[in-house]
Amino acid sequence: MNLNLKAKAENTFDAIVIGSGISGGWAAKEFTEKGLKTLMLERGRKLDHVKDYTTAWANPWDLPHRGQLPREMVEKNPVISKCYAFREDAAHLFVKDDEHPYVQEKPFDWIRGYQVGGKSLMWARYTQRWSQHDFDGPAKDGFAVEWPIGYQDLAPWYSYVEKFAGISGNRDGLAALPDSEVLPPMEMNCIEQHFKGVVESKFKNRHLIISRTANLSEARPEHRALGRGMCQRRDLCHRGCPFGAYFSTQSSTLPAAARTGNLTLKTDSVVHSIIFDEQKGRAVGVRVIDANTEQSIEYFAKVVFVNAAALNTLLILQNSVSSRFPNGLGNDSGVLGHYVAFHNYRVRARGVHEGFQDKYTYGKRPVGIYMPRFRNILDDRQTAFIRGYAVSGGGGRGRVGWADGFGANLKEALTQIGPWTISLQGMGETIPQLNHTAKPSKTKTDAWGIPQLELSIGYTANDEAMVADMKTTLAEMLEAAGFRDVNVSDSQQAPGLDIHEMGGCRMGKDPKTSMLNGLNQMHAVKNVFVTDGACMTSTSTQNPSLTYMALTARAVDFAVGELKKGNL
Ligand SMILES: Cc1cc2nc3c(=O)[nH]c(=O)nc-3n(C[C@H](O)[C@H](O)[C@H](O)COP(=O)(O)OP(=O)(O)OC[C@H]3O[C@@H](n4cnc5c(N)ncnc54)[C@H](O)[C@@H]3O)c2cc1C
Repeated sequence: MNLNLKAKAENTFDAIVIGSGISGGWAAKEFTEKGLKTLMLERGRKLDHVKDYTTAWANPWDLPHRGQLPREMVEKNPVISKCYAFREDAAHLFVKDDEHPYVQEKPFDWIRGYQVGGKSLMWARYTQRWSQHDFDGPAKDGFAVEWPIGYQDLAPWYSYVEKFAGISGNRDGLAALPDSEVLPPMEMNCIEQHFKGVVESKFKNRHLIISRTANLSEARPEHRALGRGMCQRRDLCHRGCPFGAYFSTQSSTLPAAARTGNLTLKTDSVVHSIIFDEQKGRAVGVRVIDANTEQSIEYFAKVVFVNAAALNTLLILQNSVSSRFPNGLGNDSGVLGHYVAFHNYRVRARGVHEGFQDKYTYGKRPVGIYMPRFRNILDDRQTAFIRGYAVSGGGGRGRVGWADGFGANLKEALTQIGPWTISLQGMGETIPQLNHTAKPSKTKTDAWGIPQLELSIGYTANDEAMVADMKTTLAEMLEAAGFRDVNVSDSQQAPGLDIHEMGGCRMGKDPKTSMLNGLNQMHAVKNVFVTDGACMTSTSTQNPSLTYMALTARAVDFAVGELKKGNL
C-alpha cells in the first residue's frame, strides 16, 4: 500500500502534456515558466539538440547516395516518398510506412515524425497569421460551425509567440495577412521582384511577399540566452540546425522549459488514453505504454494538454472510453473524429524567363515567396467555389540540366547556367465535412494493442472547382510576367501530403456541435485541453503551426488561471 502511494506520488505532476512537437513544446514551456511541475510525454525517441543532427555537417559527397534515396527505400516507403522533404539527409526523422500502419479507407498520405521535437525538426517554417477573414469563414459561407474566437482574441498571442520564436519577414500591411512581430526579412531575388511588380500592378488585391519564416535573421538577446544563433543561410534546415537558428522544440521551447527546473520529459512513452474519473467528473491522468518494454504506466495531473499532432490526438481521445464517455472523451456532441480537413496542394505551375541574364542569386535563402489569399476576399467574388487559396513558391536559376554531345564538351555544356524560372503552388482551404473522418479501426491494432487509425478523407466539388481556378490563375500570372513554357499541373495527390491535417475535435460555441470552447477547453471535461491541429474549426489557407503556437500559449495562460482559482 505504502509502495503504491509512493509510486503514485512519483507519477503525479501539476500538468501533463502529450507530445513534444510544435504545440506540445509550447505547452510545456508555458506551464513550466508559470511554475507548474510538468510532465511531457513523447512516444518517440530522445533526440538531442545539435548532437543528434547527424547529417547537419555532411557534404553531398559524405552522403552515400549524394542526398538521393536508394530505390529500395523508395519502394518500401511509397507514402512518405511522395513528400519532398523525405531525402537521404532527413530520412531518419520520418516515420517509415511499415513502422506505424494505419488504414486508408480513402487514400491519405500521412506524414509523421515520432521523436522528441516531432515535426518541429522537419517543418518548412512558413509562419503567417490568420486574419479575421479566416475566422469569419464558416459563419459567412455557412459551413462547419462558427468560430468561438476572432482575430482580436489571438492577436496578442501571435505577438507573444512570434517574439519568442523569431519570425523574419516584412510588415506588409495587407488585409488578408495581418502583420507579425518581425525580424529583418530575407530578400527576394530579381526574378521574384519582377514577378511581384507585374502581379501587383496588373491584378487587383494580389500581393507577393517574401514568406514570413521562423528563422532567426537576427538573434536577439532572448534568443541567444537559449543558445540560439543567427541563420547562416545554409538552407539545410531539414537536417536540424546546429546553430539553433530555426524554431524547433529542441532549439527553443525545450531549453526554455528545462531551465525552469519544472520539466520532466519522458520519451518512448506511448499515450494510450486519458483516465477519466467518473466520481470526480474530470480527467485524472493518462495511461502510457512503454514503447520498448510494453509495460503499462499511469501518470496523474490536475490538467492534461493533448498535443500529439491532430490525427494522433483524435486517436487518443477516441481511445479514452468510460461509462460516461463510451464514444471517446468529451464526445457528447458526437463530432469527435468528424470534420477532418486539410489543405489542397494539388496545383503547381512553372515558367521560364529569358530576361535578367546578367544576374544571379547570392547565398542560400531558406524561404520562398508567398501570395496571401485573394479569392472571395475584399471585392473578389467567385461563383464556382467558396473560400480561396494562397500561393507559395520561389524563383531561381540553376544549371542547364541537359545538353547535347559527349565527352569534355558535354561536361562543359552542363556547367552552363540556365535561365531564371519561377515555381508556384496553390494552397487551398478545404471545407470540413461530417463524413471526412479519423476513427479507431474496429479490427486492426498496432504493435502495442492500440487500434490503428482509419482515415476517410477526400476532395469535394468545391475543391475541384478551386483546382480549376488555381490552374488558370497561376498560368495567367506567369504569362502576364513574360514567362514562357508555362507548365501547369494537377498532381491529383491524396490529402495528407500538405501535412496540414486539421479538425476532428473542433472549437465552437455550442457543446452540442463542438468539442472545445473558445479557450481550447473541452466543453464536457474542463481539465482537458486540445491545442494542436485537431482543434481547428476550419482550415484557412495559411500554414497552420503559428496559430497552434498562439492558441497553445493562450490556453495555458487560461488553464493556469483556472487552476489558481480552484476551477479545475
Ligand atoms: C516537411 C514538412 C514541412 C512543413 N512545413 C510547414 C510550414 O512551413 N509551416 C507550418 O505551419 N507547418 C508546416 N508543417 C507542419 C508542421 O510541422 C505541423 O503543423 C506541426 O509540427 C504540428 O505540431 P504538433 O505539435 O501538432 O505536432 P508534431 O510537431 O508532429 O508533434 C507531435 C508529437 O506528438 C508525439 N505523439 C504522437 N502520438 C503520441 C502518443 N500517443 N503518445 C505520446 N506522444 C505522441 C509525436 O511523436 C510528436 O513528437 C510541415 C511539416 C512537414 C513534415
